[in-house]
Amino acid sequence: MPSKSSSLKACKVCKFLNPLKAVACENCGAQKFSEAWSGLIIIYDPDNSQIARTLNIAKRGKYALELY
Ligand SMILES: [Zn+2]
Repeated sequence: MPSKSSSLKACKVCKFLNPLKAVACENCGAQKFSEAWSGLIIIYDPDNSQIARTLNIAKRGKYALELY
């Protein structure tokens, strides 16, 4: 089910979750966002995280699993 968050938007390039007021993605600098996303993933330690490796995530933070 698509879910909407009132406080975060997902980068369409890397899926990093940014504040709604962000102009550019804090992770990759892209300026394309989606406010319709689901599946929040929090990466604390990308160097030792299997999920981070699978999703090609190098920076700690919150990521969306799916964008709509
Ligand atoms: Zn990004």
